Amino acid sequence: MATWLTGLSLPWLLLWVTAAFVGLSVLSTALGFLLERLLHRRQIWRVPLDPGQYRFELRGNLNFLVVHVLVVVAAIHRDWLRLGDASPALTWVALYFGFQLYYYPMHRALHHRALVRFHRWHHRSRVTTPLSGQSMSVVEALGWTLGYVGLPALFSQLFFPISAEGWVAYLAFNVYGNIVGHANVELMSGVSRRRLVSLFTPPFVYHALHHARWTGHYGFASSTLDRLLHTEFSDWRPIHERVAAGRALESLKERA
Ligand SMILES: [Zn+2]
Ligand SMILES: [Zn+2]
Repeated sequence: MATWLTGLSLPWLLLWVTAAFVGLSVLSTALGFLLERLLHRRQIWRVPLDPGQYRFELRGNLNFLVVHVLVVVAAIHRDWLRLGDASPALTWVALYFGFQLYYYPMHRALHHRALVRFHRWHHRSRVTTPLSGQSMSVVEALGWTLGYVGLPALFSQLFFPISAEGWVAYLAFNVYGNIVGHANVELMSGVSRRRLVSLFTPPFVYHALHHARWTGHYGFASSTLDRLLHTEFSDWRPIHERVAAGRALESLKERA
């Protein structure tokens, strides 16, 4: 795959990267909305969306997609990543956990007074939808490219030439997880409330509470750094228990 990718002419590379990012985003978004419909009993918030929410989320997705397509194309075309024959699984695991370590401080920095204006776009979605995940300002999208492209590039230069398949799988999994993970529905069972499990995969309620409350839960697919740095909400478990039992939250201010 590495030879195929780096051998593509610039117009074909642009076409393939656009098709992959847009195609995967559309499919994941469709799946997210389907899950919201099918699993109505597991709805997180029974609170109406803000007027025009889907419209500004679509514009935010456009910001994300344009920035990512351009940066990924530049990275491949200019050989920013050292691609080699490392194991795809090892590459995926290293990048996936690397991203969790990167995402928390980036997200927390975006909540700093100096940067929060770039993060407000993402937080305009108070009740999240599958379109919320990639809805963000251009500056925040650039921050995400450091995780999607900069981190793999740095990793490949510092440690070993990474697998192209592993990197593509890492990107695909993150795009899918971020989109579906913002659906207003709880897919995770009670197992995700267990301490050890939530360190690696907390329930959907976990990030939904971040959108409602702002200050806390800066991790997305891991609660590890929130726990270590005391930014975890104390009541997310009883809230998850309630949502999983089919009783959606009626107000964004609800506490348990
Ligand atoms: Zn979010
Ligand atoms: Zn935030």
